[in-house]
Formats: sequence, structure tokens, C-alpha cells
Amino acid sequence: MASMRHSEEILQAIFSMREEGPGPFPPEKVLARARVGQDALKEALASGLVVEKDGRLELSEQGEAAAAVVVRRHRLAERLLHDVLSVRGEASESAACEIEHVLEAEVTESICTLLGHPHVCPHGKPIPPGACCEAGRRIAEPVVEPLSRLRSGESASVAYVQSSNPGRLERLASFGLLPGTPLRVKQTWPSTVVAMGETELAFDRETAEDIYVRRAPRKDEGLAPRGGPPESVGGRWRHRFGRRGE
Ligand SMILES: [Zn+2]
Ligand SMILES: [Zn+2]
Repeated sequence: MASMRHSEEILQAIFSMREEGPGPFPPEKVLARARVGQDALKEALASGLVVEKDGRLELSEQGEAAAAVVVRRHRLAERLLHDVLSVRGEASESAACEIEHVLEAEVTESICTLLGHPHVCPHGKPIPPGACCEAGRRIAEPVVEPLSRLRSGESASVAYVQSSNPGRLERLASFGLLPGTPLRVKQTWPSTVVAMGETELAFDRETAEDIYVRRAPRKDEGLAPRGGPPESVGGRWRHRFGRRGE
């Protein structure tokens, strides 16, 4: 529905402009920011989500909630494009603007959970929290974080790999590094070594920062040694990965 979309652009424009400084927000400014016309403003006013007072626009109580939902979807879409798909710049912005209008509530929550309930978008602007963020906090759901943050002995599962290099992604995948794969950190220095079944993979620091994992719930916190000398490789295969030279 084009008109719904345009109303959402207006809500988002007012919400974002308010973050940047105190108003007032005259209709012309808001429409320019939202890149929509007078018709869209009429729709938004008729819906009751936006109110006009003394020649300036404000969000109604209902409008506040609706605006937070749209802004949340936009910023989560930005995070998804940035973190998981490595889409940057103008392409990312226009895709986020499309995605924000079509995300169902359930899908939005799945994306938020996948990304570990992020607090800010790639531009550093706050992401309004959703119901999933509250629940995630309550049950201490493991969040997604770079492999480089884990200590020796910790277990996790792969969430996604951030890389703008498809060849590298494929190479990692060919060694079994795929979303959902459980792994255990064997060593964190001088390189990060993980065991996945009978396979061992070694990553340089930069690669370990690009691999996002979901930490397994900690059973014996404190028992894991910090780094330490490299462990013997035994009969396992160890493959080395570095960002440079690939
Ligand atoms: Zn942003
Ligand atoms: Zn969340």
C-alpha cells in the first residue's frame, strides 16, 4: 500500500529529526526529509498518527509507537545488510528503506535475535527495543559476538560470517564453517584455533573478528584457561585462515 508507506516515511522523518535536535518541525521540512508529497501528509493526519499544531508536526501517542516500530525495522535492516551481507553505502540505504516497509513483526524479531539484539545501527543511532529484546535479557539468551571475544575452552555455534569477499566465505564454508555449526575454542593466541568435530581451523585476529558466534550457555565459568601456549594438534587437521593474501 503506497499510502501506508508514505505515512511511515513521515513518521520516520519526524522521529529521526527529533533525535537530531529540538523542533519545530514545519510540514515542508518533514515532507522534504520524508521525500513524500502533500497527499501523504493528508493521509498521515487523517490516520491520527501525526498531528499539526501551530504549523508544526508532531507525533500522536499512537504515532510515537508506530514511528518506533518503523525506525526499529529500518535500523535492524541496516544492521543485517551491514553485518551479515556486507552491503555498504547507498545500496545499503536504499535496500533498508525498502525492507523496512515489508518486515512482519515476527521476522523483525528473528532478525533482531540473529543479530544479538543490537542497541545501535551502523551509524550509531539507537534501535528502539522490541519484545524479543526484553525476553532475550530475561532468559539471558546468548548474544551474537565476534569469535575473537571468546576465551580458550569456551563453546559456541556459528551465527554468520561477515565478509565482503565471497571467495573467502565459500572457502570457510567448504571447511564446515556454516551457520549453526558448534565449535570449541582451543587457543586464542597467537592465532584463534577452534575445533569443529575432527577438524581444527586457525584464524588470524582479523578473521576471528569477522566470524560471529552465539556463545553456548556457560557451565563452568572461570575454569577455562586464558590463552596459553598452543595445544598439540594431535592427529587432527588444522587449516589456517588469514584475511591478508586471500
Ligand atoms: Zn542507521
Ligand atoms: Zn531483540
